[in-house]
Amino acid sequence: MSVVQRLLAHVTEDMGIDLGTANTLVHVQGRGIVLREPSVVAVDNQSGAVLAVGEEAQRMLGRTPSSISAIRPLKDGVIADYDQTEKMLQYFIQKSSQRRFAWHRVVVGIPSGVTEVERMAVIEAARKAGANEAYVIEEPMAAAIGAGLPVAEPTGSMIVDIGGGTTEVAIISLAGIVESRSIRTAGDEIDEAIVNYVRKAFNLYIGERSAEKAKISIGSAFPLEEELEYEVRGRDLLTGLPKAAIVTSEDLRLAIQEPLNEILRAVIETLETAPPELSADIIHRGIVLAGGGALLRGLDRLIQQHTQVPVTVAHDPLTCVVVGTGRVMEEIRQNPQLRKVLVEVPKA
Ligand code: ADP
Ligand code: MG
Repeated sequence: MSVVQRLLAHVTEDMGIDLGTANTLVHVQGRGIVLREPSVVAVDNQSGAVLAVGEEAQRMLGRTPSSISAIRPLKDGVIADYDQTEKMLQYFIQKSSQRRFAWHRVVVGIPSGVTEVERMAVIEAARKAGANEAYVIEEPMAAAIGAGLPVAEPTGSMIVDIGGGTTEVAIISLAGIVESRSIRTAGDEIDEAIVNYVRKAFNLYIGERSAEKAKISIGSAFPLEEELEYEVRGRDLLTGLPKAAIVTSEDLRLAIQEPLNEILRAVIETLETAPPELSADIIHRGIVLAGGGALLRGLDRLIQQHTQVPVTVAHDPLTCVVVGTGRVMEEIRQNPQLRKVLVEVPKA
């Protein structure tokens, strides 16, 4: 290392950001994961001003008066509103940064479905928030790095990242994504399927957050050794009054079959189009699940049963992407070939 390089390394603050459809996480080199908040902004409908971001805005979701909207600007894996995405990113970067005079290098993980224009918007937002260097990395690549898969090697690694708004399936070899699928079916669709089921079965209208709680408490993709029960609460559609009902894990499993089938289909299609050498590697090395959706009970077994390929859940699936974005700069230093996973957008 030259003197200049050493100096620069000393003042550089590497920040990795997982800009997820449901959650945003920030990793700072040397400090670990410093921020973990929902990707939500609350906006004043009249002026368009951002009133709250993250945790605070999340509490307002579904509970706002008509003058305020709490929204998830990345809900569908595409940036629905640039202004709000930018404000959200700025808020999270500023909240995470401690060193005012450092050279800030930021790597943002974004869904692989986003367009060139959206990518530029994310980079612009990072620069406006104080990043001296900004890069984006595709989320499945970041997830694979975070899960500890040997992405730079000439061997096939397969990752399935099930988030809130999108499921991303990718086969990676030699630091590149060889095959991939990105679908808009993930945790949110599972929650919606639960809302619909409870409405039909009990004439009971429950909110999406209540549905999500039921999913996390008793949801499953594969029969459980001991089936579970859960009380859901909402509004009776006939009387309009508050009401509760008991749902079982078996009923919920049936209710969420359709979104689970769509996720399965994306996995199978990706496997079917893989080059044969990589297929051989994957049969041997298996599929790794990441993202919050990977925590659904028995999802690994369901995918294993339908693909005949061993499936494992990453250690701490909710943090794979942010750990990958945080680790990538360090890994590039050791293996310069990995540099191609970063997409740099030139300064305008
Ligand atoms: P994103 O990357 O899109 O922001 P995350 O990876 O943070 O998404 O995952 C969020 C999704 O994971 C949500 O739909 C949430 O309901 C779901 N989730 C979180 N924990 C669990 C769990 N224990 N069981 C099932 N789903 C879960
Ligand atoms: Mg994610």
